[in-house]
Amino acid sequence: MLVSPLSPPVSAQLLLSFDFDGTLHDPASVPAIDPDFFCLIEELRKTHGAIWGINTGRSMHHFAHGLVEGKFPFAPDYAVVCEREIYVSKPDGHFVAEKSWNQRCARDIDEIFAKAKKVMQKIREHIGHHTGAHWMEEDDGSIGIIARTTEEMDWIVTEVKKLTINHPLLGWQRSTIYLRFGHKDYQKGSALAEVARLHQLSSELVFAIGDSHNDLEMLDHNVAQKIACPANAVSDVIEHIRRQNGYVCRRTHSQGVIEALEHFFA
Ligand SMILES: [Mg+2]
Repeated sequence: MLVSPLSPPVSAQLLLSFDFDGTLHDPASVPAIDPDFFCLIEELRKTHGAIWGINTGRSMHHFAHGLVEGKFPFAPDYAVVCEREIYVSKPDGHFVAEKSWNQRCARDIDEIFAKAKKVMQKIREHIGHHTGAHWMEEDDGSIGIIARTTEEMDWIVTEVKKLTINHPLLGWQRSTIYLRFGHKDYQKGSALAEVARLHQLSSELVFAIGDSHNDLEMLDHNVAQKIACPANAVSDVIEHIRRQNGYVCRRTHSQGVIEALEHFFA
């Protein structure tokens, strides 16, 4: 069943971006998202004119499943899925593609994949010889790798960096054992900056929180000046947030998210 978004604010004055898996959503908790999170969002809508969204590596289909599983009482105002595609929720709860961005993103990725075809084949062979990781090519054109362990993915990322040195625009996003290839210009950070641009909000009015490597581009002061990570974030993200004078939560998952929102907007 679809859930509608909150009625829009008179004027948007704040933009909030939440990673889903490992940040807002903890499958080991019951409920997976603390219901107080949604009360706080409603409050921030009233007090700060807050627009909020989920910025995730999940596909649209998998994200929609997450809304049901996470018992969202209302829909986010926007979603960034596959770490790069932007969708905006309509009053009836349907999500509509932000066409010009998504089309540009798909076109540029096709172009970079065509240019980097040989090197990607080389990566595939190299990974196949040295690891037990799976190479994934989906019907929608997305290409990625699933490792057996995070240590194996650490090694794969080091090798991918070396092999792609002459392809500066070939990007990838890594979260735990997953890696998705793409274009350097399209990631959670640039997608969030585009959402901010559409709402005419500068980076001082943007908040972002995430726990993994694929969140690093949105946890950047050029994109969001209020940045945080939950206590369960990977060590590289915790160090990054500390270096940028962001907020490292004492609590994990959605309780950490609540803590960070209270820290910045109490
Ligand atoms: Mg995450």
